[in-house]
Amino acid sequence: MSKDVLVIGAGLTGIAAAWSLRKKGFNVSVIDAHEGPALETSYANAGALTPSEPEPWNAPGVHWDLLKSLFDPHAAMKLRLAPLPGLIGWGMKFLFNSSRKRYEASARANFALSRYSLEQTRSVRDELGLEFDNLQAGTLKVFQSEDRMKAAAAAAEFLRDEGLEFSILDREATLSLEPQLASVADRIAGSIHYPMDESGDAQRFTAGLAAACEKAGVEFEWNSPVDALLDRAGRIIGIQTGEDEIHADEVVLATGHASWRLLKPHALHLPVRPVKGYSLTLDMSGLNARPGVPVVDDAMHAIVTPMGDRLRVAGTAEIAGENKTLSPERIENLKHLLIGIYPDLAPQLLDGEIQPWTGLRPMSADGRPFIGETRASGLWLTTGHGHLGWTQAMGSGALLADLIAGERPVIDASPFSAKRI
Ligand SMILES: Cc1cc2nc3c(=O)[nH]c(=O)nc-3n(C[C@H](O)[C@H](O)[C@H](O)COP(=O)(O)OP(=O)(O)OC[C@H]3O[C@@H](n4cnc5c(N)ncnc54)[C@H](O)[C@@H]3O)c2cc1C
Repeated sequence: MSKDVLVIGAGLTGIAAAWSLRKKGFNVSVIDAHEGPALETSYANAGALTPSEPEPWNAPGVHWDLLKSLFDPHAAMKLRLAPLPGLIGWGMKFLFNSSRKRYEASARANFALSRYSLEQTRSVRDELGLEFDNLQAGTLKVFQSEDRMKAAAAAAEFLRDEGLEFSILDREATLSLEPQLASVADRIAGSIHYPMDESGDAQRFTAGLAAACEKAGVEFEWNSPVDALLDRAGRIIGIQTGEDEIHADEVVLATGHASWRLLKPHALHLPVRPVKGYSLTLDMSGLNARPGVPVVDDAMHAIVTPMGDRLRVAGTAEIAGENKTLSPERIENLKHLLIGIYPDLAPQLLDGEIQPWTGLRPMSADGRPFIGETRASGLWLTTGHGHLGWTQAMGSGALLADLIAGERPVIDASPFSAKRI
């Protein structure tokens, strides 16, 4: 008889896990506080499927950047003082993990998972015919200074051995790949093109996959916040939602930035906290000429991604606790970024309908997600994917399903062990 697996969370990671688990023959149900899939952080992200961006955001020197950010409203990574007391434990670990050695080890592990994940994403896209404004144009990281470009290329070099492909383009080659950058040609020193990357609308993908899960027999329970995990003699046997208890053989937590709350009563102190980001979705159906490749501004942790008839400008990072208010200055940052990259297109785009959004990335202190069984048997995690949740979702789901089935995963699961909490 096949086991009952209950997945908490219907974002990218929960739906990806549900799909892989169902494919293995488990009886799967998904429960979420929202009324449908991908309505939290997976809703309007930058849409980039980027094995090329495996580096954790706590890069060596991050403590100086955070300190300086206290006085700079436009800083790429901004620290807010108000939530600090609640973030001290996570924050200390975040800084501790910013040593060169730990940073590079996490980047290597993330790259392996991201690459595997992109293969899984392509395969489910083709199998199910999912439509999500998928673009297979790679990403283009544009630089204003040659020195910065050389430094970025040198920094990415250690990943070439792992299989990362990239080419360094001069100004002319950059413009031939993205002609819409012509009006800022004099400010471009060159770019790095990562041809393996793809992009698309993560919310559309998740909704399409959730529909396929339902068709395949996965049961969904919406509008049901989970209040607690049920523990019997050290084994997690189900969940409590309101007055109801739901029992399962295995429980999977795919609850994004909120995961730590359900774990804390079980003495599991998950070092994952929210790092806030923003996006603007703009209507580009009226443009005569459109951008055709996602363009990354590395310094701002930001990206401009074409998505069918829309253009999404997304990024920036704010350590601001669970605050989800839309800060006008962070929105202005994204508008300025758009104007800086596409000064000719921006006036028309910013004149049309703009959909601002903010989301909380589930950021782990060591830059790697948690995938696997915790020290409480019967309780599994797939969370803490930070800025890579879309890139790594399908690979994480497949990895988790292999582990729950007791099979040997395709990639090394040890860097992501959930026993490291
Ligand atoms: C601005 C921005 C840009 C980004 N760009 C990219 C990008 O280009 N590429 C990329 O790879 N990643 C990107 N990310 C990161 C990515 O979006 C996240 O890592 C990913 O969405 C996390 O998915 P998740 O399933 O873990 O969490 P979520 O999408 O937040 O899903 C968690 C679900 O759990 C549910 N839940 C939580 N607690 C409970 C509870 N107690 N009971 C019931 N349900 C519960 C929530 O309702 C929610 O539906 C970006 C993020 C942001 C904010």
